[in-house]
Amino acid sequence: AYRYDKSFELYDRANEVVPCGLYGHLGVGRARLNPMGCYPLFSDHAEGTYIWDVDGNRFIDYACAYGPNALGYQDPDVDAAALRQREKGNCTTVVSPVMIECAEKLVETLNCADWAFFAKNGGDVTTLAVMTARHATGRKKIIMMEHGYHGVYQWCQKPGTPGVLDEEICNNLYVPFNDFDAIEKMVKDHPGEIAGILSMPYDHISHYDNVLPKEDYWPKVRKLCDDHGIVLIIDDVRAGFRMDLAGSDHYFGIKADLLTLGKAIANGWNMAALVGRKEMRDAVEDMNYTGSYWLSAVPLAASVATLTKMKEIDATGIMRKTGEKLISGLKQVADANKVNLSTTGLPSLFKIILKDPDESMIPHQEWIGEMVRRGVYISHFHNMFTNTAMTDQDLQYTFDNADETLKMIIKKYPQILL
Ligand code: PMP
Repeated sequence: AYRYDKSFELYDRANEVVPCGLYGHLGVGRARLNPMGCYPLFSDHAEGTYIWDVDGNRFIDYACAYGPNALGYQDPDVDAAALRQREKGNCTTVVSPVMIECAEKLVETLNCADWAFFAKNGGDVTTLAVMTARHATGRKKIIMMEHGYHGVYQWCQKPGTPGVLDEEICNNLYVPFNDFDAIEKMVKDHPGEIAGILSMPYDHISHYDNVLPKEDYWPKVRKLCDDHGIVLIIDDVRAGFRMDLAGSDHYFGIKADLLTLGKAIANGWNMAALVGRKEMRDAVEDMNYTGSYWLSAVPLAASVATLTKMKEIDATGIMRKTGEKLISGLKQVADANKVNLSTTGLPSLFKIILKDPDESMIPHQEWIGEMVRRGVYISHFHNMFTNTAMTDQDLQYTFDNADETLKMIIKKYPQILL
């Protein structure tokens, strides 16, 4: 099993000068205590579907940088396009025409897009989407899903988050995902007050099984929005391009008014975009919304190359097929070992949980920990992603690894046997 001596040494050094040492997914200040210390903390380099940590361990990376890695780390075509632009200029006073090319690509690619607006982070564009819905309707309230995640700006933080005022979130109305009646009731209870409904295309809730929408859920939500003049915002920052190149709204048979994109949009170069229907354009035009790096040319060039290549090779189809093979292979391993492995979500954006009768998640976490320590990087709480660089050999390594580690976990926790 891998050791992380250098990672831990670097963590101590980081902790001297960085609040928490490491923040975000790796443990919010408790990085070293992250489940059983099974995760590497610092990366040395990455290529294709692999990352190598500072201790020299190699991982098949099913976290895909939490979404951006769709074509493989350091995809040669995307990175060549970025470097070509780098030689000409990046962050300049006057913008490069590559901005137009990128907007044209997005309009051509996304079903609901009549225009595109660029920023850097997913949170920049979810914020712009909410501002746009409010300005377009002259209303204040936003219906959001209980488990939704839309970034770290104040308006979308959970109630009780340190530093966030009640006044900043008092116009958020929370409903459970997939509960159309709850949404309808919320709309009835607040007549003429709802500016927008904001949701991810399906529920990628952390720590639990993911939930797909009921068959008629999205069409019913779409109609409700039409009937009441509510702006429908699909947050596709995480799922974008992995289910349907034309947008996850298109995948579920509807057309969003506003759609947010980030992560896979430039295969890891820093880019996010809001796209939307022509009816929403005036509202966006009225706003003063920008950032120093938002129109930098290199990530825009990378995005054009990413969108072009994704279409050419049918990246979405490849990621789906890889996910299907992965999930069915893992299921086979679980069945052969007589344990219950739940697999939820869609194949290119999936969640696995090893079930135990007490629902303690302890065998699950230890199992994931053992896999990570043998070179298969899977998050113990977050949904996973596939990318187009994963090979059958990577999948076979994953199955062999899963089999070996499951046997260890069953010995320790025989109660998980069916
Ligand atoms: N929306 C969704 C659905 C996300 O998954 C994320 C990031 N995990 C965001 C918004 C925020 O994006 P960013 O972290 O780039 O601001």
